[in-house]
Amino acid sequence: MKKWGILRLAFKSWFLTEIIKGFAKTLHYFFKKKVTIQYPFEKAPISPRFRGEHALRRYESGEERCIACKLCEAVCPAQAITIEAEERSDGSRRTTRYDIDMTKCIYCGLCQEACPVDAIVQGSNFEFATETHAELLYTKEKLLDNGARWERQLAQNIEKDAAFR
Ligand code: SF4
Ligand code: SF4
Repeated sequence: MKKWGILRLAFKSWFLTEIIKGFAKTLHYFFKKKVTIQYPFEKAPISPRFRGEHALRRYESGEERCIACKLCEAVCPAQAITIEAEERSDGSRRTTRYDIDMTKCIYCGLCQEACPVDAIVQGSNFEFATETHAELLYTKEKLLDNGARWERQLAQNIEKDAAFR
């Protein structure tokens, strides 16, 4: 048994069988359909449920959707959301401050789940890396701006996911 083992090893060394096997594997994958993509020039499809960058949405009239119920703030396990609110002259409640510390956020999606009016949502954008910590402390203006920029896609995502909610 020991003799055969030594012979097998010698055969492998003399005829470089491992290298030949390696080349064969490389050649096999060389002609197979490529599964990698050339990011950032190419992008993989993203699920409508993808939990990316946050946005605050408005109604078509321009009115803010958020009614300052603070459910998102209460449910956030990372305590990343800070809301201050006051009553308007027409009796409606709106936020005066809506901050998200994106460096605390764990992208769990609970804020979006809790929101009764689809105001705070997580969109498909994942390209929001910054150079400084301060840039990731999102204010209400920044979140509303995201909402305006991504509204079409956000509305489509919510529509596609509606049947499963
Ligand atoms: S995704 Fe989760 S952790 Fe991030 S703000 Fe929403 S509730 Fe908080
Ligand atoms: S974003 Fe939604 S859950 Fe959060 S305070 Fe506004 S209405 Fe309430």
